[in-house]
Amino acid sequence: MIKYKRILLKLSGEALAGENKNGIDPKIVDEICLRIKKLVDKKVQVGIVVGGGNFWRGRSAENMEKTTADYIGMLATAMNGLAVHDALEKIGVKAKVESAINIDGVIDEVNVIKTEEYLNNGEVVIFVCGTGHPFFTTDTAAILRAIEIKADVILLGKSIDGVYSADPKVDKNAIKYDEITFDEVLEKNLKVVDLTATALCKEHDIPILLFGICKPDNILKAALGEKVGTLVKKGQ
Ligand code: UDP
Repeated sequence: MIKYKRILLKLSGEALAGENKNGIDPKIVDEICLRIKKLVDKKVQVGIVVGGGNFWRGRSAENMEKTTADYIGMLATAMNGLAVHDALEKIGVKAKVESAINIDGVIDEVNVIKTEEYLNNGEVVIFVCGTGHPFFTTDTAAILRAIEIKADVILLGKSIDGVYSADPKVDKNAIKYDEITFDEVLEKNLKVVDLTATALCKEHDIPILLFGICKPDNILKAALGEKVGTLVKKGQ
């Protein structure tokens, strides 16, 4: 049973790097894309925001102008987007890449009207270059795009398998939540997405399902509403 008609899937750069943690592992990209194909075959409309952390994170670049470092990070997401596009087309899934920064001749710019047409035609739309502005992350971009395309849910594929009360790597007593509200996330200062993104999701009432991307089948489970990860939603 399909739970969500239109989803926004966030793929962190790390998810595309596999065990290498750096660069792109084409085998992993293929595996992820096979799961996306299954969703498309079930008539789920799919928008994807890709991260760039497998190549570059602006905040890690010391001794560099912050805005320059962030632009490098955004351009890194374009490489990932092209890789995902290639892998999808190879298995017969029609897809488009749209960029928040003008990369004329390679990738079209984000166009909300065209995006709507593509999604309604069953094409996957891959958004790259984040918000197009320094000082943001691709998580925030994922929320913005989800609001723009009126997604039913944001599927946030992370290296961690859910939202925990504390960092499970540090605190052995940390508990994983099955469900939690945006208010609780803010109150407890939990790590889901940044504050701006959490507030935007709450305001627009778009739930976030955070799940572990290291098992690509989780993409299917998450989209089909099976028990996986942590659902973050608006309280009553
Ligand atoms: N970035 C940015 N503005 C955005 C999105 C991303 O400046 O709207 C830059 C920022 O430097 C970030 C990098 O791009 O560190 C890669 O994105 P992110 O760290 O979100 O990738 P992920 O962790 O999801 O792989």
